Amino acid sequence: MKMRFFNAKIWDGEKLFDGELRVEGDKIARVSPVSTLEWQHWDREIDCGGNLIMPSFKNGHTHSPMAFLRSYAEDLPLQEWLSEKVFPAEALLTDEDCYHLTRLACAEYFAGGTTFVCEMYGHTRAVAKALADSGVAAVVTEGILDFDGSPKFIEDKIDDSVEYYKNFPARVRYGISIHAQYTCGEGTLGAVKRAVDKYKMPLFAHVSETAREVASCKEQTGKTPFEYLAGKGLFDFGGAAFHCVHVTSAEMEIMAQKGVAAVTCPSSNLKLASGIAPLAEMKKRGVKIGIGTDGAASNNALDMFRETYLAAVLQKCSTGDAAAMGAEFVLGAATRASAYGAEGMDALAPGSSADFVLIDLHAPNMQPGNDIVNDVVYAAGKHNVMMTVAGGKVVFENGKADVGTDYDALAERCRAIAKRIADERARA
Ligand SMILES: [Zn+2]
Repeated sequence: MKMRFFNAKIWDGEKLFDGELRVEGDKIARVSPVSTLEWQHWDREIDCGGNLIMPSFKNGHTHSPMAFLRSYAEDLPLQEWLSEKVFPAEALLTDEDCYHLTRLACAEYFAGGTTFVCEMYGHTRAVAKALADSGVAAVVTEGILDFDGSPKFIEDKIDDSVEYYKNFPARVRYGISIHAQYTCGEGTLGAVKRAVDKYKMPLFAHVSETAREVASCKEQTGKTPFEYLAGKGLFDFGGAAFHCVHVTSAEMEIMAQKGVAAVTCPSSNLKLASGIAPLAEMKKRGVKIGIGTDGAASNNALDMFRETYLAAVLQKCSTGDAAAMGAEFVLGAATRASAYGAEGMDALAPGSSADFVLIDLHAPNMQPGNDIVNDVVYAAGKHNVMMTVAGGKVVFENGKADVGTDYDALAERCRAIAKRIADERARA
């Protein structure tokens, strides 16, 4: 497919200019500040009407199938929420459930301008297939924990996954992850460390989401969670740590030195009363920052506009410094995938993956246009997304997301899954 998007304002990830963008296949062929008149055959020519083209959102932490738990269990602190509500409901999920629930999440991602996710969930292969079938780019990870089996079983499982995902489209890659320090004993961590070394791969993990997690890790190991995991060499090839609400300055130093990204999920942290991640301090110490939604069970929206806004404003409030975190910085953090090891998706440039969004600059909430980047972070919402392009394919347009299957039937199927599980839980 050859497409031309002309008469646009373009924010390419660094600078803003008027111009046009051309797509050939799944890549950006050209981004130019002027619209040149040359004859070519286009499969589609889109007059952007002076609206904004910018890189799509890259959701740095999510559990896509958790869409079935949206607004299911509220007003509980994290540990009770997990052990009494989430885990027992998740135990009733099948591979097929996870496949459909992930496709539903993909429709929500596209509608909100997101085209990449860093995913962690069980039933991982069904989830990965759903992401691939829907056209979302992803790093998919399993969230390994003791419950998976013996260290030998875990090592074999990772070997098997590395092989398995070689047959996937290039947009969906495999990543090694552990659920968290508190769900992985010495044996499990040893197995994961051997795999990380063998494949020289980054590691993904939930880290220091709650104060209680940090206190119990210190009690058990004498160390804070990231210090403990990094001390075992688990982050020797980089990776990403999800949440990082309660990280110490010493941990920030190690994160910066090992190139480990801190991925903040502000809505989830606020809603579960976990706290506010010290992003401004991490940024100051040279830690890479990413932004994610976490799952729909704890957020409850898979909406990167909201997370990006909160990532900026919470820092201003928690530090008492209105300049602690600016719009351009957070928008960069929300639109880059390289923090998760996915290259060629960060900026809009020739040769990059064609993943971008068209934002309505004519809407009342985007007037008068004093500063477009500030407008996107502080004033815009997903209702301003006019079009989403993922891997060179238009996947959201005229208010409808295209995940390659009939949406109404998909939504109905997902409601039936949620109802089946709620009924089973009520009987238990
Ligand atoms: Zn999570």
